[in-house]
Amino acid sequence: MTTPSILSVRALTKSYGELEVLKGIDLDITPGEVIAIIGPSGSGKSTFIRCLNMMEVPTSGSFKFRGSHVLPEFKDKAGTLGAGTLRRKVGMCFQHFNLFPHLTVLDNVTKGPRVVLKESQVEAEAHARALLAKVGLADKENYYPSKLSGGQKQRVAIARSLAMRPDVMLFDEVTSALDPELVSEVLQVVRDLAEGGMTMVLVTHEMAFAADVADRVIFIDNGVIAEQGPPQEVMHSPQSERLQQFLQRFH
Ligand code: ADP
Ligand code: MG
Repeated sequence: MTTPSILSVRALTKSYGELEVLKGIDLDITPGEVIAIIGPSGSGKSTFIRCLNMMEVPTSGSFKFRGSHVLPEFKDKAGTLGAGTLRRKVGMCFQHFNLFPHLTVLDNVTKGPRVVLKESQVEAEAHARALLAKVGLADKENYYPSKLSGGQKQRVAIARSLAMRPDVMLFDEVTSALDPELVSEVLQVVRDLAEGGMTMVLVTHEMAFAADVADRVIFIDNGVIAEQGPPQEVMHSPQSERLQQFLQRFH
């Protein structure tokens, strides 16, 4: 028996006007799997990962979450899942963390659960404190974002996503905007999540990290999955010239 997919896309395309950015992507993500997406700038990595929580609506193709068709309408309809539900199940962190500047760290993390999941303050704060401890920021709960370093802000952003109790986490170049000395503290949080069994898709230019943490590496080139496989294969025996050239840039 094969493991049922948590997310499954078939022949997914995305165009902006005349520009076809994604040209037919098939992917099944199994529970607990960690997928790293690599590829040149402009190849469609962000567009793809944003389609996985319907922040971008695919132009065509099929998209299922735990076997249910996902539709772009916000609300669920008979037998299908709406984008609203999907976004609660599939959390996302970006390069720019977009914390609420007028809220403390603790309030940033409890806001979503209180408003969207209707958690009580006591429940939301207990969960938030556990998550802040997990990302190494237990002592910062009363700080405002402006008083934090970039690495700390990104870790709050991750805790804030986790507070929604997602089944899948998407990370789009979460360390790209950070000063080099702050990268490892954020990667460590992502690594801990992977080791804790979180299903994840991460777009990254940190090749050593991708090789280390991912179960599968996917090379997106010009809107298609050009190569994929275990990190050893993809990183150390690239088949295509395009991937060989791409990887050379990181040596
Ligand atoms: P990557 O993340 O791999 O660098 P992106 O997915 O951000 O690539 O972008 C892929 C292509 O889609 C680029 O040519 C980009 O200019 C274009 N693109 C992305 N978002 C939009 C948008 N909202 N409107 C028009 N074009 C877009
Ligand atoms: Mg991108």
